[in-house]
Amino acid sequence: MTTNQPMGESDLALARATGFSECAIALRRALTTTPVGWLLAVWFCRDHVPMQSIALWLGSAAAIWAGSLWVLQRMIGAGSTLAMHGVRLRWIAALDGFAWGLLTWFLIGYDPALDAILMALLCGVTSINAQVYGTFVVAYYGQIGMQWAVSVSGLLLLAGIPNALDYAAGLSVFIALTAYYTRAISQRLLEGIRLQHANASLAAQLRAALQKVELDAATDALTGHWNRRALDDVLKQQAAQFAVSGRPFSILMLDIDFFKNINDEFGHLVGDDVLRAFAQALRSFLRSADVCARFGGEEFVVVLPETALATAMEVGERIRTGIAQAPLLNKPRVQATVSIGVATMTEGQGIKDLFAAADAAVYLAKNEGRNQVRSQMLLAA
Ligand code: GH3
Ligand code: MG
Ligand code: MG
Repeated sequence: MTTNQPMGESDLALARATGFSECAIALRRALTTTPVGWLLAVWFCRDHVPMQSIALWLGSAAAIWAGSLWVLQRMIGAGSTLAMHGVRLRWIAALDGFAWGLLTWFLIGYDPALDAILMALLCGVTSINAQVYGTFVVAYYGQIGMQWAVSVSGLLLLAGIPNALDYAAGLSVFIALTAYYTRAISQRLLEGIRLQHANASLAAQLRAALQKVELDAATDALTGHWNRRALDDVLKQQAAQFAVSGRPFSILMLDIDFFKNINDEFGHLVGDDVLRAFAQALRSFLRSADVCARFGGEEFVVVLPETALATAMEVGERIRTGIAQAPLLNKPRVQATVSIGVATMTEGQGIKDLFAAADAAVYLAKNEGRNQVRSQMLLAA
């Protein structure tokens, strides 16, 4: 998915679903400010409209408001979704429009100047709700449609309201224009939401691709073990840790015996299978903290953190006997042995020295007949 594609059906559905949830939150926020509108209306009407009428309008508006807020609160608490709560939100919107429309039935016709102010208030409510329902515009149509129907019917059906036709026409034009422009804004908002989704998914794809590239760059394609580059990093870490803790780590260098013969006898593809099987078997002899890397063709290196020479020799011996005991492949049956050189990090030594020691130990093991575990350090000691 790229960001400049036109909106597809599923993109649009996702954007609409997000838009709906955003609208539910915006509506809850808007409802908490609704009493400000009531206060304004009551303030304007205080010396012109009978208290009973004011109380009736306020009472019905407040009842609808409280019910709506309660339903909305529960809806958001349940994780409002378009599929489950779309109709409910449209009802809340329509009832809100109904409550505001009642304003003409209860408060208009007492004073011409007040009537004009109340018409302006209704237009203000329409404008504010255009922001609230921007991401779920169908509910807005319900809200302003209901508000328009109730307020215009009040204006026209109640006798004796001066300028009733003018007000009805004015309200109608204002509401129609607001609906028209809100529709355009809503489309842009949904497009923005879709772009956010597209960018988030692109970022996730890039992160996944980057992780894969990083992993590929550090692993050996044939065996899945770490490669030499990753091994270098591990050894640097281990050396740094050793410098701090003083607890030595060891490495095993493993070289499969007479591997060339396996290739010669069975071919390179079988040789590859043997390498894979060897790598797998090797892993099975190790602890999870031990690091296993393919060093070269049929040579592997194992890093044993916080492991002294004697234990490293034991691990090497366990691997050697394990490999020698069971065939690596059954079809064709291929049995192999391995020569292992062991070296342990000591004070004043570098990683190169460690490798040289392990390499010399492998050489020793080969010279002494192969299928051996050797350490130069034991000779030196
Ligand atoms: P030694 O006991 O002295 O180690 O004998 P060897 O035959 O194992 O040693 P040598 O180094 O002579 O041969 C290693 C062989 O490993 C040669 C090379 O063709 C083979 N080899 C290296 N990498 C691969 C690989 O990725 N796949 C296969 N099939 N063979 C490989
Ligand atoms: Mg070799
Ligand atoms: Mg070899």
